[in-house]
Amino acid sequence: MITIENTTEKGSPVVKPTFWNNKKRYYDLKSYWINRFGCRVHKLPIDAGFTCPNRDGSVAPGGCIYCDGRGSALRQAGELPSVADQIRRGKAFYQKHSGAEKFIAYFQTFTNTYAPLEKLRALYDEALAEEDVIGLSIGTRPDCVSDETLALIRSYAERSHVWLEFGLQSFHDRTLRAINRGHDAEAFREAVRRSGGGPILICVHIIIGLPGETQGEILETARQIARLPIDGIKIHSLLALEGTVLGDRYRRGEQEIMTREAYVETVCDILEILPPEMVIQRLTADGYRDILLGPAWAGNKLAVLNAIDRELERRDARQGGKYGATPYT
Ligand code: SF4
Repeated sequence: MITIENTTEKGSPVVKPTFWNNKKRYYDLKSYWINRFGCRVHKLPIDAGFTCPNRDGSVAPGGCIYCDGRGSALRQAGELPSVADQIRRGKAFYQKHSGAEKFIAYFQTFTNTYAPLEKLRALYDEALAEEDVIGLSIGTRPDCVSDETLALIRSYAERSHVWLEFGLQSFHDRTLRAINRGHDAEAFREAVRRSGGGPILICVHIIIGLPGETQGEILETARQIARLPIDGIKIHSLLALEGTVLGDRYRRGEQEIMTREAYVETVCDILEILPPEMVIQRLTADGYRDILLGPAWAGNKLAVLNAIDRELERRDARQGGKYGATPYT
C-alpha cells in the first residue's frame, strides 16, 4: 500500500510507505526501533575479545586491506571489561544522553561467531541477562557461521530480537580478491540462504569506492542485495586508515578516494534500488577520526547525512523508488 505522507518544499508529492513513520526519504533505524518497540532503542557496541579468521591467518594472511586491526578503544586501553560491565556502562551513558529505554547488545568487534559454541553461548547469555537488553546484533563474516552456530543464534531469535550482520562489502569477486576478503560473493549468498527466512534478521555491510570498482558495479551490488531476503543494510565509504595496506597506498598516491559529492550521489542511487522495507542502519562510517588519512569529509558524519537528505530532496526520490521491475504498490 502506498500513501501520500507529506509534500516537498516545491509542492510535489512524496510517496512513501506509511510504515516508515518518519520524515525521512528512507527507512532509518531509529524509526524502525520505534515502530517495532514503541520506544527509543540503542545498539550498545561490545568488544567481547574475539579475533578474526582473516587476521590470524586461518583464511587469508593480513586481513582486509582497509582493516586497521586495532579492535575497539576499550581493547586498546587495556584489559577488556566483561560483557555485562560494557553493557552497564553503555546503558548508563545512553539513558542519560539519548533517552534510550531498551538496548540491543551489539557484538561488533572483529568476528563475533569465531569461537567454540559454548563460549558463544556464554557471551550471548551474559548480554541477554542484563536488564533492558531486548536482543542481540552479531557482526560476523559469511564464511564463519557453522550450522551449530546458526542453530544457537536461531534459538535466541525465537525468543528475542536478533540481527546477524554480515560483512560483504561488494558482490564482485574481483573486488573481494583485491581487498583480500578471503571469501567470495557466493559465500555470502549461501550464508544468507542458511540463516535468513526465519526469525534471524539479516543485515549486510557494504563499502562504496572500493579499488577498481565502477559506478555500474557498485549499483549491481545493490541490485543483488535487493533480490535477497535481507532486512537491513549498513553503507559507508572507503576510508584510508593509518596502519593499513590501503592507507599506505593512499599515502603513496596510489589509491583514489571518492569525493563527498560522488559518495552522496551513489548512496542515493543505492537507496532508490533497495526495497522500501529494508532498514537503513548506517549511511556513514563511525569513529576512526584519530587514524583517518582520507577522505577528510568522512570525519563529518552529520554533514554527509544532511547532504544525502538534500540530494534525495533535489531528486524528489526515496528509498525503493526504483526497486524491482514494477513500482512499489
Ligand atoms: S573481516 Fe573484518 S575484522 Fe576481519 S580482517 Fe576483514 S575487516 Fe578486519
